[in-house]
Amino acid sequence: MKTYLVTGGAGFIGSHLCDALLTAGHHVVALDDLSTGSRDNVAHLAGQQRFELIIDSVMSRDALAPLLARADAVFHLAAAVGVRLIVESPVRTIETNVKGTELVLELASVRSVPVLITSSSEVYGKGARVPFREDDDLVLGNTKTGRWSYACSKALDEFLALAYVREKHLPAIVVRLFNTAGPRQTGQYGMVLPTFVRQALAGRPITVYGDGTQRRCFGYVGDVVGALLQLIDRRDAIGGVFNIGSDEEVTIGELASRVKALTGSASEIVCIPYEQAWDEQFEDMQRRIPDLTRIRELIGFRPVTRLTEIITRVIEHEQRAG
Ligand code: UDP
Repeated sequence: MKTYLVTGGAGFIGSHLCDALLTAGHHVVALDDLSTGSRDNVAHLAGQQRFELIIDSVMSRDALAPLLARADAVFHLAAAVGVRLIVESPVRTIETNVKGTELVLELASVRSVPVLITSSSEVYGKGARVPFREDDDLVLGNTKTGRWSYACSKALDEFLALAYVREKHLPAIVVRLFNTAGPRQTGQYGMVLPTFVRQALAGRPITVYGDGTQRRCFGYVGDVVGALLQLIDRRDAIGGVFNIGSDEEVTIGELASRVKALTGSASEIVCIPYEQAWDEQFEDMQRRIPDLTRIRELIGFRPVTRLTEIITRVIEHEQRAG
């Protein structure tokens, strides 16, 4: 039994990771400030002896230092997430992502505690050559467009983690998570699938931004978490950067249709121009597909949960949650 620190442990992916670590017999300490995470996500774990929830910020040295002093490894997931939050609170986004990661790495290096840093497919920016490979150049837009500050803050996290590996021999691994979906994801910060499902279940219009021809690949949270668990134990992953997600593409228009069909909803599907959904400065990506060769070759990872199954599980979750 090991003790794992999961920053952002009450978030969507973090809470599923806590579940998986507990199932594997480990002790789990979740640190979360509940800014985008929620107590509900880990309510089913309350009372478990091997689970602790600490409500505090990943930017608090006082909170983090004692946790890192007793952790065998850290999954660093705490971050400002969601396009809506990024656009509306850019200061908070940059500060949380950069300061939080800085502190995790600094404190982890005191005892050389293995750290898995979760970055994002956002770092590929508007790169047009798909699928995205880990060694591709990053193509970011101008500094007036809030979205790129998120990409840049995550890229800086990666630089810092890799610098700690080189200079301080910290066993750190970087993963770039592509669009991930599943139960407990909230639509509150923009994420499209829970937003569509809630709209469909409520009989409200399903809001497709732009013309709906933009495409994404949705990975199932359970598949993603399985990969994270395997990676943290791999010495040969240290200093590496890994794409994780699904490479099954769907247009957002088709996603809306599938949600409508699977919920049996009478909602109409409406296209909303970007300048109405966001501001003039918003830039969306047309396509975003991961090249999964590297993670497949290292741990045999394959996304196994198909999109229809993912949508179905999100619908069931939303129905249960009322
Ligand atoms: N999107 C949409 N309607 C919504 C929310 C999002 O059409 O209510 C689109 C968004 O413009 C993007 C895609 O769905 O093209 C995925 O958005 P999300 O914010 O989930 O993730 P992203 O890939 O943009 O980080």
